[in-house]
Amino acid sequence: MQCSQRHRSDLMPPRRPHHLAPKLSYPEVYQQHSWTQLIQKYVLLWALSHPVLAKAGISMMKRALHLPHFMHAPVSGSMHYHFCGGETIETAIQRFHTDLPRGMCAAFDYAIEGVHALTGLEEFSHELLKAIDAAHAQYKKFVVVKLSAVIPPKTLQQLSTHQSLTPTEQEHLHLSQQALHNILEYALAKSVSVLIDAEHSWVQPAIDHFVEQLMTQYNINYPTVYQTIQMYRHDRPAYLKSFLEQLSQKNVHIGIKLVRGAYMEEENLHAVQRGIPSPIFPTKQQTDDAFDQAISTCLEFPTPVHLFLGTHNEQSIEQAYLQGKEKHLLDRVCFSQLFGMCDEISYNLSKRGANVVKFVPYGPVQHAIPYLLRRAEENSSASKHAYLERLSLGKEIRRRMFKTTAMH
Ligand SMILES: Cc1cc2nc3c(=O)[nH]c(=O)nc-3n(C[C@H](O)[C@H](O)[C@H](O)COP(=O)(O)OP(=O)(O)OC[C@H]3O[C@@H](n4cnc5c(N)ncnc54)[C@H](O)[C@@H]3O)c2cc1C
Repeated sequence: MQCSQRHRSDLMPPRRPHHLAPKLSYPEVYQQHSWTQLIQKYVLLWALSHPVLAKAGISMMKRALHLPHFMHAPVSGSMHYHFCGGETIETAIQRFHTDLPRGMCAAFDYAIEGVHALTGLEEFSHELLKAIDAAHAQYKKFVVVKLSAVIPPKTLQQLSTHQSLTPTEQEHLHLSQQALHNILEYALAKSVSVLIDAEHSWVQPAIDHFVEQLMTQYNINYPTVYQTIQMYRHDRPAYLKSFLEQLSQKNVHIGIKLVRGAYMEEENLHAVQRGIPSPIFPTKQQTDDAFDQAISTCLEFPTPVHLFLGTHNEQSIEQAYLQGKEKHLLDRVCFSQLFGMCDEISYNLSKRGANVVKFVPYGPVQHAIPYLLRRAEENSSASKHAYLERLSLGKEIRRRMFKTTAMH
């Protein structure tokens, strides 16, 4: 379905459930932000919360990235600062500790967009090992891998459609797989879990195949590898059930990351262009129902499932929290939001005793900005969450202004 066909309610800012109203005072959430940072982030969120403006801004930024750095530095620098942990793992660790209070953990995500797997394979592996070391020092230990950063997307697509590879492509695939195994062995030695991102449906069959193999091989003592399932796909509820059945028979630890899915518009466009049915549910409500049902399926499955929920949706979060609490399974559930987004939700969850893991992307500006732009562009809900976040920032700005005035 095209964006324009979406139901109007999908485009409206979500209502915050009453019981999820912020329970913390704003200074606690934003105490690390200076005045400049508060205003900068407010302006960014203001732009992101207007779908038309956000679309225009994103497309302008994409073009501006080809221009000399100084021409886009004010915007790219600000985006990078507010939604990225910095350029290196060291800055990401530091930012995470200064910006967010104790009690939360980070899943470090080396965000390189458009860097071809083979040219950057060695650098990518090296960065991942450093991220694993950083994760190892935490209570909940996670790093993120996007398989298309290790295996070329073209190869993933060919494998997904059972096309044969040329000898050179096979050789490259072999090198990529070797790098992946090195990363996983290191993660295994450090008891760190690796979350494998879900991607476009045309490369996902190959990713599913690799992840299933890796889980069988590495999830013997604990869930080293987590599979991500996008619940906006109408074939995924059945996939989830058969996946769980299949893994439980193999006697391995099961790690599942549930998300709604980030590529809705591209998926729908891809389907229209090829005259094939869209893999996405026709309505947001169906996606929401599938997501919430998937949480129950995992929590009720007879074999223990380690669940990682990548969502900013407060209704789903509340349902998972209450269900996990009632079943005494909260220690097996991690709630995850993106760095710089929905901090209030993360804070509230953490205060209520839930495991909160912030996704912290980091990487050189020229590679991380395309990543952030893609996230903003493909995440159709960015505008909604940006809107809510902006309201909170506005309250904090007013609170500080009145405090300053009262002091004089
Ligand atoms: C920590 C974390 C990790 C993530 N990892 C991945 C990943 O590996 N792969 C990935 O694809 N995404 C990933 N995402 C992005 C995620 O899939 C969503 O795009 C994003 O989180 C918004 O969904 P939501 O549940 O937070 O909120 P909501 O605002 O409730 O949901 C918005 C989502 O609903 C769906 N939707 C919206 N409108 C419709 C419609 N008309 N019909 C059908 N469905 C609709 C879309 O999936 C949209 O993104 C991740 C998100 C987070 C927070």
